[in-house]
Amino acid sequence: CGIFAYLNYQVPRTRKEIFETLVKGLQRLEYRGYDSAGIAVDGPRKSTTDINSNAICLIKKKGKVKALDEELYKKDSLDLDEELCTHIGLAHTRWATHGEPSAVNSHPHRSDKDNEFVVIHNGIITNYKELKEYLITKGYEFESETDTEVIPKLIKYVYDNRENDSVTFSTLVERVIKQLEGAFALVFKSRHFPGEAVSTRRGSPLLIGVRSEHELSTENIPIQYNSAHFKEGVQEKNSHNRLDGSTAINSVGDGRAVEYYFASDASAIIEHTNKVLYMEDDDIAVVTGGKLSIHRLKRQVGEDPVRAIQTLQ
Ligand code: GLU
Repeated sequence: CGIFAYLNYQVPRTRKEIFETLVKGLQRLEYRGYDSAGIAVDGPRKSTTDINSNAICLIKKKGKVKALDEELYKKDSLDLDEELCTHIGLAHTRWATHGEPSAVNSHPHRSDKDNEFVVIHNGIITNYKELKEYLITKGYEFESETDTEVIPKLIKYVYDNRENDSVTFSTLVERVIKQLEGAFALVFKSRHFPGEAVSTRRGSPLLIGVRSEHELSTENIPIQYNSAHFKEGVQEKNSHNRLDGSTAINSVGDGRAVEYYFASDASAIIEHTNKVLYMEDDDIAVVTGGKLSIHRLKRQVGEDPVRAIQTLQ
């Protein structure tokens, strides 16, 4: 099983180039074993500047990555030459743990028929039955037999019940993972947060590669502790407690052109960049406006409050 996601920020890429990058990433992870594969990309855009018009398109296939690759070029509605200047694409190879290998059980999984939130998952959610039963009582309809599907449903539930519109993508993910038991590496994409990606992990590996023409603004990212998110009435924008004072640089990327690669292992990243950040359990990595920051709920005793961008040899 494997996760691969690719985010280009202010770097023009055609849909065809994005497909090729995603498929190549999956091929590098094939050795890990899998039974099906799938991707999520943006659908047609009305204009290159109107990223809010995005629909998300899922393409999933039982069997080999090669079969998925062929499937990608059969979608007439997807213009291969359309340039997607800022975009996040998700790709996944599945090794079924819950639910037989099939197109509907393969990833990405989605919150609803409009694909408001989509997610790729490696691992097992051990308390999925309770979560599924709860979400069914709230009117959510499930289409697969997987443990994974509770995750996109749960994030939509949290989003639909948000107390104000300034809620961030990372806060939603933080609330979701507080409810999850088991092992996971996750990457999320959402129509509500175009061009943004949120990834997190617990027990399953996940790392992020960074490629930029410019020198990176920092090689050490001080973690943002977000516990204030959960206190009633606290403004989201005031909730980042900067450990190292207000001058700390809390993100990589300075809003200029940058590309990010999320993967379960370095073999899928190394051909693009040797600058990588290994995520730790319960880290939430957010890319917004081309900037990567790391969030956690609260600081634990003895925890390293910084994540380093390392150079792979
Ligand atoms: N448990 C999930 C499923 O069966 C994810 C499996 C994986 O890691 O590929 O769909």
